[in-house]
Amino acid sequence: DDEGFVDLLHARAVADPEGIYAKFNGDPITFAQLDRESSAFAAFLRREGYRPGDHVAVMMRNSVPALSAIFGLAKAGIVWIPVNAQQRGEGLRYLLEHSRPGLVIADADLAPLAREALGNPAPPVLVNDTDAISDSLADALRGTSAFSERTPAADAPFAIMYTSGTTGRPKGAVVSHRMLRLASEAVGLVSAATPGDVFFVWEPLYHIGGAQLLPLPMIRNIRLAMVDRFSASRFWQQTVAEGATHIHHLGGILQILLKQPPSDLDRKHGVKIAWGGGCPPDVWGQFQDRFGIQIRECYGMTEASSITTYNNTGLVGSVGRPMPWFTVELLDETGARVPIGERGEIVVRTSRKGALFPGYFDNPEATAKTLRGGALYTGDLGSFDDQGNLYFHGRMTDSVRCRGENVSAWEVEHVAADFPDVEDCAMVGVSTDIGEQDIKLFVKPKAGHRVDPEKMSAWLGERLAPYQNPRYIAVVDEFERTVSQRIMKHKLSTRSDDCWD
Ligand code: ATP
Ligand code: MG
Repeated sequence: DDEGFVDLLHARAVADPEGIYAKFNGDPITFAQLDRESSAFAAFLRREGYRPGDHVAVMMRNSVPALSAIFGLAKAGIVWIPVNAQQRGEGLRYLLEHSRPGLVIADADLAPLAREALGNPAPPVLVNDTDAISDSLADALRGTSAFSERTPAADAPFAIMYTSGTTGRPKGAVVSHRMLRLASEAVGLVSAATPGDVFFVWEPLYHIGGAQLLPLPMIRNIRLAMVDRFSASRFWQQTVAEGATHIHHLGGILQILLKQPPSDLDRKHGVKIAWGGGCPPDVWGQFQDRFGIQIRECYGMTEASSITTYNNTGLVGSVGRPMPWFTVELLDETGARVPIGERGEIVVRTSRKGALFPGYFDNPEATAKTLRGGALYTGDLGSFDDQGNLYFHGRMTDSVRCRGENVSAWEVEHVAADFPDVEDCAMVGVSTDIGEQDIKLFVKPKAGHRVDPEKMSAWLGERLAPYQNPRYIAVVDEFERTVSQRIMKHKLSTRSDDCWD
């Protein structure tokens, strides 16, 4: 079976031992070192009694030991449970309980949080403590590197990646070795990467957006340039120092970079392409013009091995066309295809083995809802233009039936976000006594500013259809967010007596 990616690491280490897999904060890690350390870790896991199929949770920020640990788990056929390093409290407790890890690996400062969140009896916690002489991850990575077992089958689970939890409890999407390889091939295609290119990695590996880069140095002959965290003020300097040619955009980083004061470096860097998802149309042109970087917008989700459609034509606002191995249909509630220009649920099919996930871990209801007849029902809304370009219109469940019309929250929020001094907003439905819904908009003003709901309502009235205009506006200080910074909508109050009417 040659559809996994773990074998590729060893092969590369043998063929090109001095070759650089990645740099971390400027320090190189060679293929040979990564191969040696990950084998040592796989051997350690076996000695400790862990078997293929066991679960190991990893609560670490990006680092060289994190890379070695992840590859070591993969070699041993042990399922990686990535844990967001910012996760705390109830969210962390849920994840560690639901995923049932037999071992938790944590950065030294995160280990106490993990211990506190673990139930009873708790699995052991292995600490990434560079100062410790024994019983630490560093110790395990230094051990004997003899590990000669066959690599796991391509369809064996590589990871269980929990979704953001925007619409409810996070769901653990099972990701096979084959899926990760394919996700990486998708990045290669979208980014048009050629040997010698350097991918700047500011995003954490515990999301599919970061994890899918892991096989890339082997399959595309590119190098990863990793930093420990995103910094807007140092961003361009860092890309120059690393010789980066590609960046990943996600979660508003383009907007953050645009807010930086102009600098010589805006044009004196080597970055050609920003691939990713969620670039608003107005930011798109501004970013390309100021920094001379082409935006390659994608649509995707963990369940469909990350990138599902991509735009390499420069058509602003579109998420482009399906990956070669996917077909996308837009269906109405009856399962019929919607006409061109109209909205329907994005449904993804594939003939390629392993391109769609096999299901959620220990969540048969969610799996049955999402995977039907071999197709992935994404719960997202899209429309096609007559050229076959896809446009994303938010989530189906995130719409409100108001005066007989379906109102997309995403659409209302995009308009409302342009009202002066609004930092963020979120729309929900409020039930009325006639069995319909009214629209309620939560607004968080920018720090030190006020938003007048009455003025905002009038302003929105000029920009939205009457049925889209919020009946209620509630001003809030802060939103509860998922660790990927999405607003937890299911936590927002759907009462009408706490806001301006
Ligand atoms: P949960 O499924 O737990 O509610 P989530 O769907 O937010 O969480 P992710 O898997 O991280 O968690 O995100 C995938 C979703 O992101 C997609 O289903 C889609 O709604 C949204 N998305 C994907 N591509 C884009 C894009 N280009 N622009 C805006 N949103 C996007
Ligand atoms: Mg989802």
